[in-house]
Order: sequence, then C-alpha cells, then structure tokens
Amino acid sequence: VSEYYDLMNDLLSFGAHRLWKRLAVELSSIREDFKVLDIAGGTGDITKLISSKIGEGGQLILSDFNKKMLLEGRNRLLDSGINNVSYAQINAQYLPFNDDSFDLVTVAFGLRNFAEKEIALESIYNSLKPKGSLMVLEFSKPQNEVFKELYDLYSFEVMPIIGNLITKSSESYRYLAESIRMHPDQDELKALFEETGFTNCSYENLFNGIVAIHRGFKE
Ligand code: SAM
Repeated sequence: VSEYYDLMNDLLSFGAHRLWKRLAVELSSIREDFKVLDIAGGTGDITKLISSKIGEGGQLILSDFNKKMLLEGRNRLLDSGINNVSYAQINAQYLPFNDDSFDLVTVAFGLRNFAEKEIALESIYNSLKPKGSLMVLEFSKPQNEVFKELYDLYSFEVMPIIGNLITKSSESYRYLAESIRMHPDQDELKALFEETGFTNCSYENLFNGIVAIHRGFKE
C-alpha cells in the first residue's frame, strides 16, 4: 500500500498523525550536531521533521527494510528540497552500524511490526552512543473504557472498509487493527525498554493512550 500510505494516514487518523509525529520529534531534544537514525521510517515523515534541526556537523539517515516505502520516502524528501539525508535499506533487527554510533534513534509506528522486538531493541541499544536515546512513537492502549469501545468499533468495522475503498486491500487495515491489539501496552513496552538496558525510561500518552511516545537512554 506504499503509494496510498500517506493519504491513508491522513484519512484514518483525521490528520492527527501529523501532530503526534511533531510532538514526538519535539520531545526528542535534537541538537544540530546529532547523528540520528530513523528506523522503519517509511515515507519519511519523522525524518522530514528532524531534517530542519540537523546542521553541518550532524547526520541523518532514513531507513526501512521495504524498498518501495524507502523509495517513496526518498523521492518525497528530495522533491521537498531536503538534501541532508542519507538512505539505507536495513532490517531493524540487524543494524549494520558500529556500536556507539548515534545520539538518537527514532521508530514511529514501526516497532509493532518487528517480528523480534527484543532483538531489535538490543540492536538499537548497541548502535546508540552512551547517553544517546531511543524514541518510539507507537499505537498503545486507550485508558478510558468507553473510549476504548468506540475505538475498537472504529478500528475493526470502519477502517477496513475505508482501506478497501482506497487501496483495494481491507486485509492490510484489518492487520493494522489486530497488530495494535497484540502490541505491548504502555507499561509492558516500558518494561521491555528496561529489560534491554535502557535507563530513565518514560512514556507520554496522546489521545487518551491511542498513541504513546516512549523514551529511554543508554547508560
Ligand atoms: N515511520 C513511518 C511513519 O511513521 O509514517 C512509517 C511507519 S509504517 C506503519 C511501518 C514501516 O515499518 C513500514 O515502512 C515497514 O516497511 C517498516 N518495517 C517493518 N518491519 C521492519 C523491520 N524489521 N525493519 C525495518 N523496517 C521495518
């Protein structure tokens, strides 16, 4: 669904994903000289927001293991005149970088899809410099029961229909709803961060916990 990906994000979230991504990048306290790796970066929304914060001494890599998504991202960023980004087709579970390489690693709406989350978190941890941080923006668990019921109804009944209308693939959007329910909730993900070795781990709920921003630091 790579060619419909951006349109579907806007439609299904009523544009809210733009706000979530902006907040996630603002919370990441990025400095001009940072070396940043955006993992599962897809069509490059997060990379695009970060690119204006990175100066001469910094480095920014947009990565994804799906070539089509990465190419969509690359074309989109180049078309917007952004030329301080490198591109890498890589699997989050096997990062091909030296230990202690990055000040910040970002993963937006990607971690949920990783088959081996623990291995990916370990690989990310190793690639971070000491004091470097990981920011994960991901769907999570709504905190209010009534809100949760409405959200379930929307996810399982409405989203696949919209998905089918636009992309002719209701399956992908059924997968989306199911993968969100299977993903660790806020506290479980925080515990996974801590088990990997991250310190000062915390999360912020957005939209009653539909989405959460997790952060953790390398010692
Ligand atoms: N970060 C972008 C955003 O927020 O719009 C894209 C998120 S998209 C929902 C999920 C992305 O994760 C897809 O582009 C997919 O190719 C990528 N992905 C899934 N598993 C991956 C893995 N093991 N390694 C790298 N990328 C992966």
